[in-house]
Formats: sequence, C-alpha cells, structure tokens
Amino acid sequence: MSQIIDGKAIAAQIKDELKEEVMRMRSGGISAALAVIQVGRDPASSIYVNNKKKACEYVGIHSEVYELPEEVSQEELLALVGRLNRDDKINGILVQLPLPGHINEESVITAISPKKDVDGFHTENAGRLMVGKKGFIPCTPAGIIQLIKRSGFDIEGKECVVIGRSNIVGKPMAALLLQENGTVTVAHSKTAHLKEVSSRADILVAAIGKPKFITADYVKEGAVVIDVGIHRMADRKMCGDVDFDSVYKKAAAITPVPGGVGPMTIAMLLCNCVEAAKR
Ligand code: NAD
Repeated sequence: MSQIIDGKAIAAQIKDELKEEVMRMRSGGISAALAVIQVGRDPASSIYVNNKKKACEYVGIHSEVYELPEEVSQEELLALVGRLNRDDKINGILVQLPLPGHINEESVITAISPKKDVDGFHTENAGRLMVGKKGFIPCTPAGIIQLIKRSGFDIEGKECVVIGRSNIVGKPMAALLLQENGTVTVAHSKTAHLKEVSSRADILVAAIGKPKFITADYVKEGAVVIDVGIHRMADRKMCGDVDFDSVYKKAAAITPVPGGVGPMTIAMLLCNCVEAAKR
C-alpha cells in the first residue's frame, strides 16, 4: 500500500506556522504586504489570484490586487512594477502569468526588484539558487522539497529523476534536489530511453504537462512519486502527469492531483512573502 502525500494538510500546517510568525513580526513592528498584478480576465488566472489573496488574508499578509485591462501596454505595466518596486510598504510583487501576447514576459519579470521577486523567477534569483546563495526560490519546487521532507523521506544520496526542464519547475527542482545532496538526473522531451531513466529514481518528479503520461512501467517499486501536472479532463475531473491508479500500487508514496503539489505552491508563496518582509 502506497502512502498518499497529503499536500493540503502539509500546506495547512505551513500556513499555520506562518500565521504565528506574522503575528510575532507584527508585534515587533514588521508587516508583510504582497502586490499581485493581473492583466486581462483569464478565468483560470482570476481563480489563482483570488486563492492567493485568500491565503494572504488567512496568515495576516496584506495583499493588493492590481487588475489591468488585457490591452494595457508593456510600458504601463512596467511603470506600475516600477512604482511598486519603490513603494516601501510593499515587500513582494507578483505578476500573474501568462501575460497577453503583446507583452514580453521576461522584460516584466526582470523589471521586478529581485528583493521583491516572491515568485523567484528573476534571473538574479535563478542564479543565486544555482550557486547556493540565499534568494527567492520558485514556489512549486520549494513546496515539493517540503512535501518530501515533511512526509519523512530523505533526499541525501537518493537517485532523483526530474522529468521536465522548465525554468519555473524542472530546472529549479533539480538545483534544490542537488542542494539536498540527491543524485540528480534531468530528463526532458529529447531524453532517450525515458522509461529506463525514470525507473532508476528513488524520487521521481514529473513536470511534463501531459496527462497521465507516467504509468507504472516508468516507476521503480518503492519510489516516491511527485506529480506536478495539473489537467482538467473532458469529464471535468482533474488529473496529473502521473497515471495515479497504476502508479499508486507500485510507489512507496505518491502525491494526488488535486491535493498534492498545488496547495504547496501557494503556501511557499506566503513563505517567500514573509521572508521578503523580514529581509
Ligand atoms: P513546460 O511545458 O514549460 O515544460 C514541460 C517539460 O516537459 C519540458 O521541459 C519538456 O522537455 C518536458 N517534456 C515534454 N514532453 C515530454 C516527453 N514526452 N518526455 C519527457 N519530457 C517531456 O511545463 P511546466 O511549466 O514545467 O509545467 C509542467 C506541468 O506542471 C504542467 O502540467 C503545469 O500545468 C503544471 N504546473 C503545476 C504547478 C502546481 O502548482 N501544481 C505549478 C507549475 C506547473
């Protein structure tokens, strides 16, 4: 029987820890504030922004949401980012992605002050992570490390395979597992013999973006399987990149979708906001 890693419960635990920390900070005269910028009215983005706002409220972080119209120019968006960079009351800035096609995402992300980059997407923070210096770590991979550790699994000395090499999940995930002294392989769309590679993993992280791609024959008996994917199927049910029903029987532990990695991403955003306020 496999252990189901309860991301909701672990995220709730982290949020409660943060709530206490925010209270302690407040009595010392430090408050945390996050600015969230949303461009356009994409329904999925609106849900994410609303969830972030609610999570901030829960732990006592002040949040401000800036809703800009779809047709806003890049200059106007950059001007808002600039104003928020200079605003001493704001510790964290987050621009909800994706942005409309006429806006260059990279220019916007690099315009955010690295000290307020609570998503950890700025190249300065990416570089800091690579050389093991303190900075902001992207929330999804940071949350995965917490999921693994808080579920009682060691990373040190373990074969870790990350499938996916995106800048926001795969690459920072590999860097973090390496920092934890795992032996890390990054697999991707051009990897030869993917099944052989992934079957070596004691810890397997799937961040592929393909529903139920990882079936039992990609997984070693007794592996810890972390499913980053989020997909809504035609029947409206959610699933991940891992075929839960077949992998569940083989893995030592597995994250469900929903209720695995997803809740941790928001919890780690709150962590980064608190960290930004403390700094
Ligand atoms: P991405 O599309 O940027 O990257 C996907 C990666 O998968 C690429 O590096 C590619 O090389 C690799 N890949 C694609 N096809 C492959 C194949 N056949 N074999 C091996 N590798 C293959 O995606 P992303 O932003 O890293 O996100 C991955 C998934 O995680 C998506 O489903 C996304 O929705 C989800 N996601 C979830 C959260 C969360 O909070 N739970 C956060 C971010 C992303």
